[in-house]
Amino acid sequence: MAEGLAIERAKELFSAEHVNVQAHSGTQANMAVYFACLNLGDTIMALDLACGGHLSHGHPHSFSGKFFRVIPYGVNSDTEEIDYDQILTLAKEHRPRLILAGASAYPRIIDFKKFRDICDRVGAYLFVDMAHIAGLVAAGVHPSPVPYAEFVSSTTHKTMRGPRGGFVICKHDFARKLDLEVFPGMQGGPLEHVIAAKAVAFKEAMSIKFKKDQKQTVANAKVFAKAIEDKGYRIISGGTDNHLFLVDLNRKAITGKEAQEKLDRAGITVNKNLIPFDDKSPALTSGIRIGTPAVTTRGMKEKEMRLIAELIDRVLTATQEKIYSEVKKEVLRLTKKFPLYPELKGF
Ligand code: PLP
Repeated sequence: MAEGLAIERAKELFSAEHVNVQAHSGTQANMAVYFACLNLGDTIMALDLACGGHLSHGHPHSFSGKFFRVIPYGVNSDTEEIDYDQILTLAKEHRPRLILAGASAYPRIIDFKKFRDICDRVGAYLFVDMAHIAGLVAAGVHPSPVPYAEFVSSTTHKTMRGPRGGFVICKHDFARKLDLEVFPGMQGGPLEHVIAAKAVAFKEAMSIKFKKDQKQTVANAKVFAKAIEDKGYRIISGGTDNHLFLVDLNRKAITGKEAQEKLDRAGITVNKNLIPFDDKSPALTSGIRIGTPAVTTRGMKEKEMRLIAELIDRVLTATQEKIYSEVKKEVLRLTKKFPLYPELKGF
């Protein structure tokens, strides 16, 4: 019952031919797609981790990097945007069976039509992992990959605002194979409680409020990125089109790890992140990734983004201990003003 509801809602929301909502996570959704169309040792292409890709897109420590031959593609060194010419050149040379589009830390619109054209020229499947942008896609704020890709995977807990979990969309032709790869291929019984919550998330994503909030998420990210840039930081690719942006900290001579730890002390959560062509290790990094879904869900708008940018700069340039506690007070004041559950105020 819950599963049928979740499937029908996801199909309607994303104009999908077939949906599987059983995958326990985004990584497992990706595993199911690989197993549905690849043989062990096949060649795949995906965005390099340092340029914004995800571990499950072929990193050596992930099953994906162990089971398949991975050819990473990157971003253009000038624009820091996906280098479609490089993808075509690499695809012609390596003849991948599958090309993966999608990212964990990429601030620009992804051109799925360009990916489709490249796949058609080399006879590859197109697989889009839209985990980060699924909410934006549902709201029409980012172009949908569904018309172009044989497979689209996602999580339900990033811009989608649902429970932690995964789902996969595919064309009719792959439906049976995909379902079998999820169960019994790589997992056992479905997590019905999570599937029920996915059904709720899909329903919520059809609302006018959700669409408005997704638009605000992008508007907030743009203003936030500009405010950080105005403080003297470099923003990767010069800005953002979506819900996140990346800050290059090199000009401020601080690593991503240090920045994350300092901000944690003041109650501000960001994560250290590699930036394109980073000369530091993934454990240190030269950047941080900042996203606006959580603060937008609390109802914050442009004014608050400018204030948070100010607080971030105060922490990152702090020379006195007291700055951390002063900023933390400001953070608590802000989160109290914008509670997660306003309807529970007073409890
Ligand atoms: N795909 C992308 C693009 C992601 O960013 C993530 C998570 O960060 C995943 C997949 C994995 O999701 P999960 O943590 O549910 O396995």
